[in-house]
Amino acid sequence: MSTFSNPANSLILALSKGRIFDDTMPLLAAAGITVTENPETSRKLILATNDPHVRVIIVRASDVPTYVQYGAADFGVAGKDVLLEHGGEGLYQPIDLNIAKCRMSVAVNAGFDYDKAVRQGARLRVATKFVQTAREHFAAKGVHVDLIKLYGSMELAPLVGLSDAIVDVVSTGSTLRANNLVEVEEIMDISSRLVVNQAALKLKRERLQPILEAFERASRLNNQA
Ligand code: AMP
Repeated sequence: MSTFSNPANSLILALSKGRIFDDTMPLLAAAGITVTENPETSRKLILATNDPHVRVIIVRASDVPTYVQYGAADFGVAGKDVLLEHGGEGLYQPIDLNIAKCRMSVAVNAGFDYDKAVRQGARLRVATKFVQTAREHFAAKGVHVDLIKLYGSMELAPLVGLSDAIVDVVSTGSTLRANNLVEVEEIMDISSRLVVNQAALKLKRERLQPILEAFERASRLNNQA
């Protein structure tokens, strides 16, 4: 681990752009921290805050647990979907922040009779980014599947005959509707969680603790909203 880029007296928070970044800003504000650059307009990957000891790094959502696991970031915010795929090794997960809520679902072409295929014991081709979660879900149901790993735009797979079904995260459902897909099964509710590097939790407790407490208080308010 490089101690030069992440010194002992500073904190690095890993976030992904978009919903997680936007929904984390009010939690940071509750801890008195303001990010002074906008990741949507800046090309910088390391963002300063009003606290010289706290910086935010912008990484891909699925990379957040990895940066935190290896201590390149001290803490981060990641969706339950991403954490289940990562496995959570080396991560302390103290708080469900109740932000970036959505659900993980199975979806198929509007004309495909999913229930019948399952009843008949058909072997289904399922395209997904969430291979672990999908494997566990179908194994628990006793459905035989061939999983096809994709990295993006899963909605396209059933439209062009790559798969019978997809497992993806759904928020409003408008992406599915726009592509003539229907949600046939909800696998689980998803929200984003705070993850903390286990060594940082011990070695940087003094700096981390007040921030974690502010996040916890603010996320309890989110919960009541
Ligand atoms: P929607 O059309 O609102 O159902 O949004 C679905 C699309 O947005 C899917 O392609 C998802 O990959 C993405 N999405 C929506 N909500 C989330 C979330 N909380 N975390 C990650 N991706 C999301």
